[in-house]
Amino acid sequence: MKLAQRATVEREAALEHCELCGTPIPADHRHVLELATRDVKCACRPCGLLFERADRMKLIPTDVRRVADVDLGLPVEIVFCVRADGTPKAFYPSPVGPTESLLTVELPVELADDVEALLVNRGRAWIVGIDVCFALVGIVRTHWRGLTGGADVRRELDHFFDGLDRKAR
Ligand SMILES: [Zn+2]
Ligand SMILES: [Zn+2]
Repeated sequence: MKLAQRATVEREAALEHCELCGTPIPADHRHVLELATRDVKCACRPCGLLFERADRMKLIPTDVRRVADVDLGLPVEIVFCVRADGTPKAFYPSPVGPTESLLTVELPVELADDVEALLVNRGRAWIVGIDVCFALVGIVRTHWRGLTGGADVRRELDHFFDGLDRKAR
């Protein structure tokens, strides 16, 4: 009885909703980027398809591609780059959220505007959807302790990048 109750609570807690129409959606779902606010929103399948070619929202690709190692010449281990309005921008995940680099970067790969990112971890590089980078920022914000981050955030990041390699083609 108790076990069954707990399972139900957990299932309800895990239930997510489409942020466009409110429909409950599975944990594995698509995301769209609202261009005006740069907000990532959870989307059900019909809403995702609807916004595949919209002006206000863009569907974020789910592909993960491993690309050749890159050196962006930036003094951090983890960085992600996006192209917004044709200009490449680099961001670091930090305990206070994504921080934009003031240094200019040259993108060594082609990226779709806004929704794709080049994610680099100590030289290893992937092309991912921008929502993956937001998830990475979330991990850093949640697990960072003290000045240097600590073992917990290290372990979570290793797990995250192993997962990327498994998804990459
Ligand atoms: Zn929807
Ligand atoms: Zn979501």
